[in-house]
Amino acid sequence: MSYDNPLPVIDQDSAPYWEAARQGRLDIPLCADCGKHHFYPRTVCPHCFSDKLSFDTVSGRGTVHSFTISRRPAGPGFADEVPYVVALIDLQEGPRMMSRIETDDVESVQIGSSVEVIFVRATDEVTFPYFKLT
Ligand SMILES: [Zn+2]
Repeated sequence: MSYDNPLPVIDQDSAPYWEAARQGRLDIPLCADCGKHHFYPRTVCPHCFSDKLSFDTVSGRGTVHSFTISRRPAGPGFADEVPYVVALIDLQEGPRMMSRIETDDVESVQIGSSVEVIFVRATDEVTFPYFKLT
């Protein structure tokens, strides 16, 4: 099966994140100077502007900050997936990330719901960290 939907542009800053996802880990940047995680991957820490960053494997657990149920596809390639949930997830480690929540019952998602990362393969290079309700 081919994947025809838009794919992320993998650059120098995000390559370790995507490689970890391909291997089934959620690795996000950790700053050696201030000790805080952040997301998305970037060249300098958004908290203290340090460039002493490394990737740290995090729990993959968090809570739903907010979400929307897409009942109309974002493009023709998503038509078979509606309805689907796009959410802002507050990771236990602090950062907030946008992702999808995979569920058979989109009405069951609530603000504050506990979630855990899952990995959904799109292509040989790209595996998406999505989430499921726990
Ligand atoms: Zn920092």
